[in-house]
Amino acid sequence: MTPAATARDMILTNAFPTPVSMPPPDPPRILVVEDEQDIAELIALHLSDLPARVTQAHDGAEGLRLARTGDFDAMVLDLRLPAIGGLDVCRELRAGGSPLPILMLTARNSELERVLGLELGADDYLAKPFGVLELQARVKALLRRAARQAAPVVAPPEPEELHMGPLHVDRARRRACVGDQELSLAPREFDLLWHFMRHPGRVFTRADLLADVWGYGHDGYDHTVNSHINRLRDKLGDRIGEERGSRFIHTVWGVGYRFEVRE
Ligand code: CA
Repeated sequence: MTPAATARDMILTNAFPTPVSMPPPDPPRILVVEDEQDIAELIALHLSDLPARVTQAHDGAEGLRLARTGDFDAMVLDLRLPAIGGLDVCRELRAGGSPLPILMLTARNSELERVLGLELGADDYLAKPFGVLELQARVKALLRRAARQAAPVVAPPEPEELHMGPLHVDRARRRACVGDQELSLAPREFDLLWHFMRHPGRVFTRADLLADVWGYGHDGYDHTVNSHINRLRDKLGDRIGEERGSRFIHTVWGVGYRFEVRE
């Protein structure tokens, strides 16, 4: 290739960049616990078509051990296993706090098994014998539900105004009143008050407040928070005597502050 051709290729390459495609997501990892090896093989085969990466365990103890590794996105669990049965595997996993989605395989016509399994924390069941398509559909539904549950919760929108006891704060107008008396707050004092009122009852350390109100990366110190809180308390008329303490901002000794309206 001549140098000119190389240069032209480069220009063309730059003019029409290859679209960057995202790598496909990793297929889900599924644990199949079934002592009958031919059935386990068959289930593994059909789940691999989803696609999924399938690991087999052929007794309850091995199933439990693998499930506890946290390496799986779902488990297909036969209830009829020798020694440690499927119901015990289910119970043990849930007792240990595992959220692993479980599709249990039950005997046909055993309502008791199904009910027990669901009570013990299985997410769904499939009665044997079952069709391939139904197995695939159930596992896909299980994975979808788990993905939805794991999705981040959308925060509710920030309110425009908050009322608590004699306090009324209007965020849009940046006005704060105690009763009918308007307070003259510095911007950071206002932000502190708003933050406290958004989270009544919650205990904040000074580091929490620095991060939440001043922002991460702020080169602040505990005394920055202390002095703002002291000024805010003065303006709120927060102290109601030695014995009764504060009306709004309460010191949690050795920890930080908590906001709560006390009349
Ligand atoms: Ca079995």
